[in-house]
Formats: sequence, C-alpha cells, structure tokens
Amino acid sequence: MAKPKYQRVLLKISGEGLCAPGKSGIDGDQLLRLAEEIKLVVELGVQVCAVVGGGNIVRGSDIAKGSQIEETTGHYMGMLATVINALAVQDTLESIGVATRMQSALAIESVCERFIRRRAIRHLEKGRVVIFAAGTGNPFVTTDTGAALRATEVRADVLLKATKVDGVYTADPETNPDATRIERLTYNDILDKRLAVMDVSAIDLCQRAGIPILVLNLRQPGNMRDVIMGSGAGTIISADG
Ligand code: UDP
Repeated sequence: MAKPKYQRVLLKISGEGLCAPGKSGIDGDQLLRLAEEIKLVVELGVQVCAVVGGGNIVRGSDIAKGSQIEETTGHYMGMLATVINALAVQDTLESIGVATRMQSALAIESVCERFIRRRAIRHLEKGRVVIFAAGTGNPFVTTDTGAALRATEVRADVLLKATKVDGVYTADPETNPDATRIERLTYNDILDKRLAVMDVSAIDLCQRAGIPILVLNLRQPGNMRDVIMGSGAGTIISADG
C-alpha cells in the first residue's frame, strides 16, 4: 500500500468550518462531517493536530467596533470562542472513536490541558489527535498565526489550511467562472501578490521553518485523506513552489 506523504500534520480549521454555510454558531452535522474527515487521516496512521478558529462566534476586531468593549478584550473573547469550538470538535471526534487531547494557550485548567509542547508531541506519538485552543494566547493576531506557530513547535510536516474552495485560485471562484486553481505557489508569491491565503505572519513563520502550506477543501469527502496520500485537490505553498 502507498505511504502517506506526511507523517505529522497540523490542520487549521476556521470557525466557519463548524457552522452551516452562511450561518454563525456551531452545527452538529458540520462537526460530524469534519470529524469523519479527520478520522480518515488518523486511520492512515498519520499524526494529527488541529488549531481551531473562533470567527463563527467572535472576532476581536469586529466586536470592539460599535461597542464599549476594548479591542484587546475583544481578542481575548475571540480566543475564548476558540476554546468553545475546540470542546465541540473534541467531543465530536471522541463520539466516533478518535482519541483526543485538548491544550489551550490560555490556562483553563478545569476544561483542558495547558499547552505544553513536549506533552503535545507525546500525545501525537501515542496516536491522539491534539486540539490546540486559544490561538497564540496573545491578542491582535489570529489563529492562522497560532497554526503556523504550533506547526513549527511540534515540527509538523505540513500545515493543512482548510478553506471553502479546494485551493488558491486566479480569482474568486465563487464569483468568477473563469477562475482556475493554481497547483503550486511559493511563499514569496503569496507575500508579493498579497494573496489572502493566511496572515503574513503565518506565511513568514512557515517560510522560516520550511513547513509547506496545503490549501484544501475539507467539505469534499475524502479530499484531505487523498491530499495526504498525494492525490486530491489543493494548492501547495512552499519555498520552490
Ligand atoms: N485571537 C487572538 N489571538 C490569537 C488567536 C485568535 O486574539 O492568537 C482572537 C482574534 O480576535 C480573532 C479571534 O480570536 O479574531 C478568532 O480567531 P480567528 O479570527 O483566527 O478565527 P477563524 O477566522 O479562524 O475562525
């Protein structure tokens, strides 16, 4: 049987991946679909960790606008939103028999472990899916940067960035029928052309650590597993494209 291309992967799941299309909050069916996709990868023997976003509940910069909430507080609220999402992902994975551990960048000791790098690596080695919550633990950045940071810390072979479409396109494929998917890009292509794939700080961290970023669609059944096996649709971003 063919071997997976990657042994240890970090999956970045945005908050919008946890709600029904066009809605906010958390949707049980979407969660289950996501968990099934992760399970397919775990069954390959690949070590999986995930950074969960919080945009389906709170984005720090948005909540501060038009309210008396300080922006810094808003960002902490956003980080707490990722904790809510991570708990939802954890229970759903466990409900289908996937062993997990959750670690938070903010101490919430009755709910989950605190992020401890060496412990996270040990969980991965034991085949547990590690769910990272609360981003970096610092305001004014996003969970994309948290994902790049954790990917670097646990020495992931690839950062899988789940989006609504199966890669980076020449134009917005939802509005432009002529848009075509780009198979390969360099980190510098993303930075120079200011392509809205991930935050600049996330791209920069991955570039420095030499971690490729694979942009893929998680809502396409089996696609993440196929991408990890070397087929499947996505865009790979690396030093040499
Ligand atoms: N956030 C933060 N520091 C971090 C990660 C997240 O302050 O390290 C806050 C920030 O306000 C952000 C919110 O948490 O808007 C939710 O995360 P994000 O927007 O990255 O979620 P996603 O878009 O992936 O759902």
